[in-house]
Amino acid sequence: MAANILISGAGVAGATLAYWLARRGDVVTVVERASGQRSSGNPVDVKGFAIDVVRRMGILPRLREAATSVDRMTFVDARGEHIAALPLSAFGSGSEALELPRADLAGILTESAREIADFRWGQSIAAVAQDAHGVDVTFENAESGRFDLLIGADGLHSAVRRLAFGPETRFRTDQGMYVATLPVPTPFGSEREAIFHGMPGRAVGVHPAAGRAVAAFFFRRDPVPDLDHRDLATHKRLVIEAFRDARWRVPELLDQVRSADDLYFDSVSRIDLPRWSTGRVVLVGDAASCLSLLGDGSTLAIAGAYRLAESLTATVDHTAGFVRYESAHRRSVEPRQRGFRVGAALLVPESRAGLLARNTAVRVIGAAAGRRARCGTGA
Ligand SMILES: Cc1cc2nc3c(=O)[nH]c(=O)nc-3n(C[C@H](O)[C@H](O)[C@H](O)COP(=O)(O)OP(=O)(O)OC[C@H]3O[C@@H](n4cnc5c(N)ncnc54)[C@H](O)[C@@H]3O)c2cc1C
Repeated sequence: MAANILISGAGVAGATLAYWLARRGDVVTVVERASGQRSSGNPVDVKGFAIDVVRRMGILPRLREAATSVDRMTFVDARGEHIAALPLSAFGSGSEALELPRADLAGILTESAREIADFRWGQSIAAVAQDAHGVDVTFENAESGRFDLLIGADGLHSAVRRLAFGPETRFRTDQGMYVATLPVPTPFGSEREAIFHGMPGRAVGVHPAAGRAVAAFFFRRDPVPDLDHRDLATHKRLVIEAFRDARWRVPELLDQVRSADDLYFDSVSRIDLPRWSTGRVVLVGDAASCLSLLGDGSTLAIAGAYRLAESLTATVDHTAGFVRYESAHRRSVEPRQRGFRVGAALLVPESRAGLLARNTAVRVIGAAAGRRARCGTGA
């Protein structure tokens, strides 16, 4: 029988899930806090099983059109001199892997679900109460509704998780690193290269994204107590303080931070819950199991959403469906969550010695990849 399902969040997981649930005949409503898709789209990947999912949705060609053409990371020193270039193929993403701005990915996924699910923008959940037969939801605008199931696909700072499982602090571990991204008018190099400049404990990158570019600042620091993830002035101050003495083209990027009105800023965090469901409420994507950087979050959000819809279809009741989804998807998530230290050491080495070792490593790997490509054995 068709279920009446509410999804909170029209991001990567929420839009994918809306499509697959509506396709199986459920009545799906999606509430999204933003008034439209956000413009700040850091590039994210779609690879592995997620490629199969988007192919089945019929949107692989559109995602390919929106994809960046970046195929390498170039590392430069304080004067902008080339240190080494690392082909993205060195990360073993697979030949069909795509990279595209997160906002474009979420937008294309949403477009595919829009005809069959009801999307409500500028709306969010204020209260949740469930009993054995349904979930009563009160929205921020004081409207209310009753649903068979409630799904939290509302990201790292999920409201559904807070309302149904407990405060975020119980489930979030900061990884000792912050990240800020903002759109910049043009790439610093060719459309094919993301350029990075590293200092001990800090890195800045400029990543081309289909004619535009995104600058990203990464820095290690102790957690900022009570950081409000919507306080733009504090976010700007933290980035400017962290990179005040940096060289290369960082001063001009900091000028753009000063005048930005669309800066993404957050701590790199990991979310762990002992169970992803409680009663008729379940979490998916970053809301359930996030490593907010270097964790293949978009790929896992698409794969998790598909597995949840598939599990609900394959089982007789939602409880069995939630168990099946969680046991299948945890196997993909947990190895990625454990990989943060290695990825962070490559992206943002902590010390000068670590930076030198990283630069030596990328020179060696880059040279080997170049040799393979010249011999016709590499991607
Ligand atoms: C700098 C950076 C680089 C990244 N690079 C990569 C990468 O290279 N590869 C990769 O795979 N992943 C990457 N990620 C991670 C990736 O972006 C996320 O893991 C992925 O977007 C998670 O999808 P999601 O749908 O769970 O959450 P999101 O995409 O964050 O979507 C959540 C949605 O919920 C909405 N929302 C939030 N709160 C509410 C509320 N209270 N009510 C209603 N709606 C709400 C939000 O507006 C948003 O639309 C990166 C992340 C960052 C920050």
